[in-house]
Amino acid sequence: MSRVYNFSAGPAVLPEEVLREAASEMMDYKGTGMSVMEMSHRSSAFQEIIDTAERDLRELMGIPDNYKVLFLQGGAHQQFAMIPMNLMKNRVADYIVTGQWAKRAWQEAGKFGQANKVASSEDKVFSYIPDCSDLPISPDADYVYICENNTIYGTKFRELPNTKGKDLVADVSSCFLSEPVDVSRYALLYGGVQKNIGPAGMVITVIREDLVTDNVLPGTPTMLTYKTHADAGSLYNTPNCYCIYICGKVFKWLKKMGGLTEMKKRNEEKAALLYDFLDHSRLFRGTVVPKDRSLMNVPFVTGDKDLDAKFVSEAAAAGFVNLKGHRSVGGMRASIYNAMPKQGVAELVDFMKKFEEDNI
Ligand SMILES: *Cc1c(COP(=O)(O)O)cnc(C)c1O
Repeated sequence: MSRVYNFSAGPAVLPEEVLREAASEMMDYKGTGMSVMEMSHRSSAFQEIIDTAERDLRELMGIPDNYKVLFLQGGAHQQFAMIPMNLMKNRVADYIVTGQWAKRAWQEAGKFGQANKVASSEDKVFSYIPDCSDLPISPDADYVYICENNTIYGTKFRELPNTKGKDLVADVSSCFLSEPVDVSRYALLYGGVQKNIGPAGMVITVIREDLVTDNVLPGTPTMLTYKTHADAGSLYNTPNCYCIYICGKVFKWLKKMGGLTEMKKRNEEKAALLYDFLDHSRLFRGTVVPKDRSLMNVPFVTGDKDLDAKFVSEAAAAGFVNLKGHRSVGGMRASIYNAMPKQGVAELVDFMKKFEEDNI
């Protein structure tokens, strides 16, 4: 067996320990004589899996009791629609557009009401986070929306925007569980788990209880109403059982590692290795304004397309895979999520140094 260092933006690297444990339980989960994949979602064994996963997530993030935790399907993209359908009571919402995902969410919300773009960083290829300390927030806005970590461009809100008292909604897909958060500052946060938590196929939404109501936009399907899933403990229909099981194992792994404070420390160390190298390199450079750099996604370029392609292909041959940047940006991107060991980043930096010497 040979494992590579996988820098994919998502689906992405998972902790090896979790994969091994899942493999060992594949044929017989805890004496049930079956895999979790083969198990009824109404069984007591599965109820225990989902309950434990929720309890561990609540503990890791310090989720207050007045918030619901929902395990949903449809990807982050479905949240782009569910959020306005459930929250846009006045049919007005303010969006901060800091990348392609925020832009999609803003465009989708426009189908349901007036979605105002109150700030954007599109003028400079989304390479920075705009000043959000005094935005023209609409007096009747139902919420203010951000994408907290911009996976494609490698920017992160280091400070949450001043919403002037309005509810904050955040897509945290690519920074979920990467550092401690104060959940009470958000009305709703959500993320596709395939970035920093588990396999593809599930979104976790953490939503303040008072927003979970039947008072949704007319015509909202039952399946797209948060209350449906909250009332049913995320078991209204068949959930992504296996994904919940793996995410539950990742939560246990994170707790064992020391929780989110420890993850933040590790993630800062990893990111610093790469950014310090980029800041001193004669060949490579980062593409993001330093103060807005993400700890999770690190885009960089050589400035020469052919050399970028050469780097990506030689890196892959050396066991550093999925370093090609998103098609909208080009260049390279190293996603260094929780499960990427520091050793992987250190070895990548060594490889980059060698490539620099050979190609300058
Ligand atoms: C990947 C990603 C999405 C899209 O996720 P899907 O699950 O494919 O819908 C949305 N937002 C962010 C921040 C992402 O990283």
